[in-house]
Amino acid sequence: MSFILYGVGVSDGIAIGHAHLASSAVLNVPHYLLPKNRIEAEQARLRNALSIVRRELEALKIADGQGSGLAEFLVFLELHQMILDDPMLSQAALEMIEQAQCNAEWAITQQMEVLISRFEEIEDAYLRERKTDVAQVVERVLKVLLGHPGYTPPPLKHDGSSILVAHDLSPADVMQYKQHQFSAFLTDMGGPTSHTAIVARSLNIPSIVAMQHAQQLIYENDNLIVDGNHGIVIVNPDKYILAEYRLKQSQLELEKRKLWRIRSVKAITLDGAAVELLANIELPQEVEQAREYGAMGIGLFRSEFLFLNRDDLPGEEEQFEAYSTVVNGMRGQPVVIRTFDLGADKNLRSAYRTTLNPALGLRAIRMSLAEPGMFMVQLRAILRASVPGKTRILIPMLSSSREVDQTLQMIEFAKQSLRDENRSFDEHIKVGCMVEIPAAALSLELFMRRLDFLSIGTNDLIQYTLAIDRTDEAVAHLFDPLHPAILRLLAQIIQSAGKAGVPVSVCGEMAGDSKYTRLLLGMGLRQFSMYPTQLLTVKREILGSHLPDITRLTQKILKADEPEKIQELVQKLNS
Ligand code: PEP
Ligand code: MG
Repeated sequence: MSFILYGVGVSDGIAIGHAHLASSAVLNVPHYLLPKNRIEAEQARLRNALSIVRRELEALKIADGQGSGLAEFLVFLELHQMILDDPMLSQAALEMIEQAQCNAEWAITQQMEVLISRFEEIEDAYLRERKTDVAQVVERVLKVLLGHPGYTPPPLKHDGSSILVAHDLSPADVMQYKQHQFSAFLTDMGGPTSHTAIVARSLNIPSIVAMQHAQQLIYENDNLIVDGNHGIVIVNPDKYILAEYRLKQSQLELEKRKLWRIRSVKAITLDGAAVELLANIELPQEVEQAREYGAMGIGLFRSEFLFLNRDDLPGEEEQFEAYSTVVNGMRGQPVVIRTFDLGADKNLRSAYRTTLNPALGLRAIRMSLAEPGMFMVQLRAILRASVPGKTRILIPMLSSSREVDQTLQMIEFAKQSLRDENRSFDEHIKVGCMVEIPAAALSLELFMRRLDFLSIGTNDLIQYTLAIDRTDEAVAHLFDPLHPAILRLLAQIIQSAGKAGVPVSVCGEMAGDSKYTRLLLGMGLRQFSMYPTQLLTVKREILGSHLPDITRLTQKILKADEPEKIQELVQKLNS
């Protein structure tokens, strides 16, 4: 049967392929009470599900024995078998069905929570983290109970045509999936600027988030058309629709090839203003793509991705190698390395704290200052990799002058420790701050007096100004870069920095979205940092822009406050 699903498109393009369901998050679980005469049947249903999962795990082990044969993977499967057979999970769930007269899904998730809370009490970080394995095993059982096909050896096509369908993906999951060649990502959860969406966008493949029930409605191997521009998924399309989308796909391909021709053209407006186009990267090896797409430097290296998907912390040598790869790879062009922005949705595996409100908690520079040992390792590694005048340090989430002073003091300690060891580094390395908390935007002078440059993080600036959790799909529709408060705040930051002669860039998602290029140019912005794959579309917009006209219209936009009026003027600006 063919049907259409809707979500929020977060990365453009069209993909046609087969669904591959990822087992990564807990499914929605029905809760109901049973009459006494149904209890035995319910227990049998759970026993049956447990034995199906047992067979699945066995099949995975055999399949892996014939394939890559990674020893770690086998250990991990054996661990899952042990968890499945642990009486605290399976036996206790069977007993609970009888005692509480509840359905099997409810019983097994209850037991999962009991087991997880036991794991959370363990001191050893590695063992504590095994709670994720408990959740994954239970998810397999739930999938069987809820009528989804079992997770037999993944029928992943290695021709890059598989489309990943997940309930939710953490940024760490997406990084892992980077190695597989998926042609699109679909998730039930997530907002347009969640880190998951950002990472997916960096892969330059269509992605849709906030689909709500995709994981329940789509089956393994279903044929899918993903239209990332419109946030639409067509499940099992007929041949006419398929032909139409194949045509659209080849038109988009043609357009991409045309754009490729401008990659070595300088970004200059029609009236001669030069604009600096920089790249955002997450992993050192992405510098190649940045150069390929003609970036003039790295405007944001999100160094925290070096810390994800591992049980230990990257040491100074490893970080030094990573930063040197980027600095050397850019061959003399500037490189801005942001110190780790961990916390919120980018957590270390060893993180044991659960915060009520992670976006407002111990994140980014707050965590760096709370973990000075870890911060010092990173600062020394960045300094050692620095090339005079070209490498810069960017501090995320600064909100007070006290934090700036403490950070600068830490940088001075790191420098002194290197001097004591006679190691070379850039003595005059420039230090900048992300402007992404309204408090920083509204007291900019404090920061400009102490620091060398600013980089506006529109993703967080919007999140904190409009009080919208960027990872929450329930409020994704309220995330509005054109809200008058955001526009005025942006214009004010860019203008104040311009007056003070402090370099300012935008490195949030707005910089890479060509809908906002003219608006930002009109506010006076001359430095944009974005994913390499977005550079050419933004450059095309700049090449066709005439600053005096744009500036005039932007002033009108900044005076407007009715959303319809703002929309109308922005459309005019872009026409
Ligand atoms: C931002 O907040 O806009 C930004 C660039 O940082 P991140 O998306 O990594 O929080
Ligand atoms: Mg941010």
